[in-house]
Amino acid sequence: MGKGRAVVDREGLRVQRYSLGPYSTNAYLLICKKTGESVLIDAPAEAETIMKALEGTKPRYILLTHTHLDHIGALAELRSLKIPLAAHAAERPNLSSPPEFFLEDGEKICFGQQELKVLHTPGHTKGSLSFYLEGFLFSGDTLFPGGPGKTVSPAALKEIIASITRQLFTLPDHTRVFPGHGEDTVLKKEKEAYKIFASSPHDPNLCGDVTWLSD
Ligand SMILES: [Zn+2]
Ligand SMILES: [Zn+2]
Repeated sequence: MGKGRAVVDREGLRVQRYSLGPYSTNAYLLICKKTGESVLIDAPAEAETIMKALEGTKPRYILLTHTHLDHIGALAELRSLKIPLAAHAAERPNLSSPPEFFLEDGEKICFGQQELKVLHTPGHTKGSLSFYLEGFLFSGDTLFPGGPGKTVSPAALKEIIASITRQLFTLPDHTRVFPGHGEDTVLKKEKEAYKIFASSPHDPNLCGDVTWLSD
């Protein structure tokens, strides 16, 4: 389907990935194959592409991993579709109109026969969220192949690492991780790389674009 790519297609569930805008930000469209109900994770850019993708599904929610501009560039146009929007309350200041509801850690989001679990994973931003669905993790800009998302201070790096180790690394090893940019990875691989990172000393001022195995 155009720019979309099916990254998951199994009984009951299809996930389409759309890489959009100047930062190749990923939007994920999760579709319950039994009912056609869908959920969109992030609204990066190219609203027309996203609208086309939503056609033929019954969109229940638009969920935001966070509100950096490269993740919400198409949101203003998509709001015209009147699909309920949800984000963490800490992201409210970056949104021009209030979401229909706020999400908290541990909440469940249902679409058709599928259920997503909300994980609050601050660090990249205060209100960063990840979403988990039986073996699939949508990690926004919190966890990428090879490292955490960008952080603006050493304290934020500590925070994102705590989010990753407590909230994400407790998920099953075989979990496929779909980040906000680029290709997916497998959680086991990231846990192993992190172990090596954690076992060596680091500059106390470390932050920014950190990779588990760079230095
Ligand atoms: Zn971001
Ligand atoms: Zn991003």
